[in-house]
Amino acid sequence: MNNLASLLTESASAGGGRIAVRQDETALTYGQLDDASARFATLLQSEGVRPGDRVALVMPNVTCFPIAYYGILRAGAVVVPMNPLLKAREIEFTLRDSGARVVVASPLFADEAAVAAAATGARCLATEATASDILTRAAAPMSGIVERAADDTAVILYTSGTTGTPKGAELTHRNLMTNAATTLGTLIRVGPDDVLFGGLPLFHAFGQTCALNTAVAAGATLTLLPRFDPAKALEILHRDGVTVFLGVPTMYTALLNAGIPDGHDFSRLHLAVSGGASLPVEVLHGFEREFGVTVLEGYGLSETSPVAVFNPPDRPRKPGSIGLPVRGVELRLVTEEGTTAGPGEVGEIAIRGENVMKGYWNRPGATAEAFRDGWFHSGDLARVDEDGYCFIVDRKKDLIIRGGYNVYPREIEEVLYGHPAVAEAAVIGVPHRTHGEEVAAVVTLRGGERATADQLRDYVRQRVAAYKYPRIITFTDRLPKGATGKILKREIVLGHRPIDG
Ligand code: AMP
Repeated sequence: MNNLASLLTESASAGGGRIAVRQDETALTYGQLDDASARFATLLQSEGVRPGDRVALVMPNVTCFPIAYYGILRAGAVVVPMNPLLKAREIEFTLRDSGARVVVASPLFADEAAVAAAATGARCLATEATASDILTRAAAPMSGIVERAADDTAVILYTSGTTGTPKGAELTHRNLMTNAATTLGTLIRVGPDDVLFGGLPLFHAFGQTCALNTAVAAGATLTLLPRFDPAKALEILHRDGVTVFLGVPTMYTALLNAGIPDGHDFSRLHLAVSGGASLPVEVLHGFEREFGVTVLEGYGLSETSPVAVFNPPDRPRKPGSIGLPVRGVELRLVTEEGTTAGPGEVGEIAIRGENVMKGYWNRPGATAEAFRDGWFHSGDLARVDEDGYCFIVDRKKDLIIRGGYNVYPREIEEVLYGHPAVAEAAVIGVPHRTHGEEVAAVVTLRGGERATADQLRDYVRQRVAAYKYPRIITFTDRLPKGATGKILKREIVLGHRPIDG
């Protein structure tokens, strides 16, 4: 069966009584999750959702997420997951761009979603954070699954790619199923007795494939944490006997800094997986020492479903390396001249394989730019050692990864340019001890205009999700520019005036 939702139906028929998802005291068995998602599919159908329609999902990691996710897929529709922290104007952009007619939101985040839905004419369904609402609202579970072709789009993930404003990476049922199968078969080998940590956001590719779809394909348990907090994460690891931890580097740092409370037992933990940003080698070693577990780092992007490169569990892992291309994925490092980089030479990671997206939704130009000669170009620079292990050395694209969340400088710059006193703005990432990177803005003011860093910060804060606004704002008289007038971000030196914030 091609539909990604078959991961759930198959695990439910293999062992319906096992726990599929847990969120503190709430637990759903595979049978219950299967039934709830089938009822949710009926509900969507009664709302007029047809195969191929886009349905937006604005939800943190609560048990309703997998119910809605597989319910949407079951109905043959396309899931458009969004970070629940987004403001109404950001949600509205995604609704318009994807053409979503229905938005599913959990009550805590329904206000912003409802404003956005009202602006686009979409229907907003607010579901309770527990499963009971969905179970009682729809009369009957949809029977079976709406069949889809392997190359039909299953999920659209919004990302900025290497340039410009957010656009939707169209991932097919085949993309996501093969990536989950590869992850499960060769990287994170888990079975029905495993318990996976569900603290990575499920709206993002890493959590969706490596935690949710991998756990469900294995018939394992996923224990959810709606908002990452190190003390709560440690409690879950201990209480639920987590066997596989998955996290971004900032989570590793936070857990290490929090220290292990007395009486906590992590003896069931047998694997930890890191991705999303570079894991500092000292953090990797510290975590392995403290938690008595091997840490494997991998690499990928929304556009590659996401896993493309990984330190394979059956070979010695190389600290600081993202590993080897995974099964079914080809990797090529492309030099500035367009040739293939030799050993030790730096080039842009280009990827080909069944995990690579179909393209950007309704963006033929951006799709053509990202794919050259059939290879998807990542915007990340890397080199490969004599054993074929890949090391990320830099990022060619304009992207800041703050605490595991992507912040696209262009988006923040556009907001700053909307301020009447701002003449020019450049948003850059600066190293930060706990967040990995912090968002900083360097601004020049229009002649005769005045604005303080606090005023500009508040202006942006009111318009974008809280994780995105620049904590650091400095002023300069002139930004460094190249011959074409393009701002040379790499030449920006912070601290022309004292750093504020
Ligand atoms: P996203 O589309 O949100 O998954 O972001 C993908 C980007 O995250 C990649 O293009 C990289 O810049 C970055 N990334 C992912 N994994 C790693 C890693 N292990 N090391 C360094 N950067 C990474």
